Amino acid sequence: MNIEKDTYKRIIENLHDGLYFVDRNRVITYWNKAAEKISGFTAKEVVGKSCSKNILTHVDGDGNNLCTGRCPLAATIDDGNPRETEAYLHHKDGHRLPVSIRLSALTDNAGNIIGGIELFSDISHQAANELRIKELEKLALLDNLTQLANRTYIEKEIQSRFEEKKRFNVPFGILFIDIDHFKKFNDTYGHDVGDNVLKFTANTFVANNRPFDLYGRWGGEEFIGVIRNINRKNLESLGTRLRSLIEHSYIIHENHRLCVTVSIGATLVSENDNVDTLIKRADSLLYKSKAAGRNCLMIG
Ligand code: GH3
Ligand code: MG
Ligand code: MG
Repeated sequence: MNIEKDTYKRIIENLHDGLYFVDRNRVITYWNKAAEKISGFTAKEVVGKSCSKNILTHVDGDGNNLCTGRCPLAATIDDGNPRETEAYLHHKDGHRLPVSIRLSALTDNAGNIIGGIELFSDISHQAANELRIKELEKLALLDNLTQLANRTYIEKEIQSRFEEKKRFNVPFGILFIDIDHFKKFNDTYGHDVGDNVLKFTANTFVANNRPFDLYGRWGGEEFIGVIRNINRKNLESLGTRLRSLIEHSYIIHENHRLCVTVSIGATLVSENDNVDTLIKRADSLLYKSKAAGRNCLMIG
């Protein structure tokens, strides 16, 4: 079968997965439509640039930067071996998005490695999130700025989790999350830039959400995650991963990266709790995280 070159081009341009090519110096030479859709960066913005420079800047679940240290694409270009991994890419809007990645070497006709290929797919539960936003909007339970559940809905959700615990003995926990020194951030960069930070923080929660958990905006720069069916150890590691993903998220403002950190109070429901006692305990653990220097999580 003799397929025209243009046909190949059209197929890869319209793949469901994001696809890009880099040369041996990891300068991007090709970027397909799905790569634009998943990452928010257009081909025009990235072709000709090094992929580690303020573009995807992949990190792993512990926040280690894969671009400057152990870049799997660089390793594949070095040894020619294909690789598969999961990572969190930097979306143009600022949030961290979980992706599954497949890498292979790009070779010329003589078999020499001339660059690398990365295929990546969005592994967040995006369709479910869009549905959730529509439902909440209908019921006036949506926070308009962040597109998260509002405070009223968080309270209802916690109440439902109490019912579930009573009837089926399913444990749950909450994360009380507060952005550090946010007043200073607003004073320095302005309220609109602050709003963008609130949005990307919210998007990082949602993109990394397990489908049965819920994140909402409690007020101002405070968020609550209601985490279903979890034990202490997993609540701690889930909260710590979120904290680290926020720490490694950023927006570009006047050519600079702007970052924030969050402090977290994490707690599991206990026998005599009600909504108030649970939230109060999480709030006082959050306060302890602030006192301990911020950008940390206290569990109790
Ligand atoms: P801490 O580390 O102790 O939490 O310090 P902080 O400055 O974050 O806390 P503080 O409670 O003093 O200030 C919260 C700031 O959050 C005040 C306000 O400017 C900002 N904020 C609250 N809601 C919004 C919003 O909708 N948009 C923006 N841009 N800022 C907001
Ligand atoms: Mg606060
Ligand atoms: Mg704060």
